[in-house]
Amino acid sequence: MEINKENRKWLDSMGLSHPIVIAGPCSAETEEQVLKTAHELKNTDTNVFRAGIWKPRTRPGGFEGVGAIGLPWLQKVKEETGMLVTTEVGNANHVELALKHGIDILWIGARTTVNPFVTQEIAEALKGVDIPVLVKNPVNPDLALWLGAVERFQTAGISQLGVIHRGFSTYNSLHYRNKPLWHLAIELKKEFPNLPLILDPSHICGRRDTILDVSQTALDLNFDGFMIETHIDPDNAWSDAAQQITPNQLNKITADLRIRKENSNEEEFQRKLNMHRKELDLIDSNILEILSDRMGISKEIGKLKHEENVAILQSRRWSDILLKMVEGGNEKGLSKEFVEEVFKAIHVESINIQHKVK
Ligand code: PEP
Ligand code: MN
Repeated sequence: MEINKENRKWLDSMGLSHPIVIAGPCSAETEEQVLKTAHELKNTDTNVFRAGIWKPRTRPGGFEGVGAIGLPWLQKVKEETGMLVTTEVGNANHVELALKHGIDILWIGARTTVNPFVTQEIAEALKGVDIPVLVKNPVNPDLALWLGAVERFQTAGISQLGVIHRGFSTYNSLHYRNKPLWHLAIELKKEFPNLPLILDPSHICGRRDTILDVSQTALDLNFDGFMIETHIDPDNAWSDAAQQITPNQLNKITADLRIRKENSNEEEFQRKLNMHRKELDLIDSNILEILSDRMGISKEIGKLKHEENVAILQSRRWSDILLKMVEGGNEKGLSKEFVEEVFKAIHVESINIQHKVK
């Protein structure tokens, strides 16, 4: 996850400092709302103004965006505040209109990245135009789709590329609107170490009170910036009201973030250490989740055995599992002793759980 500054030149050439802050409403609603929000954001760390002009709503009936009449409002934001402007494009026609109105950066939404036909159509519409493009992850946790979309833009000759992590939808999640599944962003970063990686905590959290926490995790993981939905009157926003914050609240969040410095060797060492520790923390919580899922299944098996009056300890099956795991571990560079130790502990717990089932 080394930063290769050469390939990030487009950020510098656009005057985008670390961390990049992209802020603005989920949707452009009226000219007044757009301009008022932009003027308030001018006094924050925001360096790019965002607003959705065409809104991909999952179900019809919601607000689907003002459409092309909103593009001149973004031009006005640029003229009046000097901030760069960005909007989402979902087809070739959007690209043409956005380019005609001097939009500085385009972003590809999660519902577009998921569709290789549409992504390809947009990439082709951009041939010969070297405008920065930020690719959001697809709605589903499929790393290949995300990588594939990035590759389509690279092939079309877009050299100023970045990615946005906005979380992945799940059937049911208590804490998140879209689960962060950080390991996917970490994997993407490994494949494309030179692409700026931006966090969209708004769509991950779906609420205001957890934005700071999720943003800090991203900074600790060496993300390059944020896209945060910001509105002058969040409660009355026409889309995504629950997660939008005011420019003042944005100020508070960026002030509270612990932002790393990249100077001395010691700071660099600390930064890397913290980043790897954060990665370990995330993997450890995944291990816990997987273990608890495994024990849930053991419980089901326990019930079945109880109903059928079958012995709980099936030593033949157990030796088969252990052998397979030792072999698999060996291929992955894990020692026999370690794998045996771990799986014996899992087995003992599983047997205990099955004994408790009545
Ligand atoms: C948005 O940024 O408002 C948006 C629609 O995001 P996503 O594509 O991540 O759902
Ligand atoms: Mn939104």
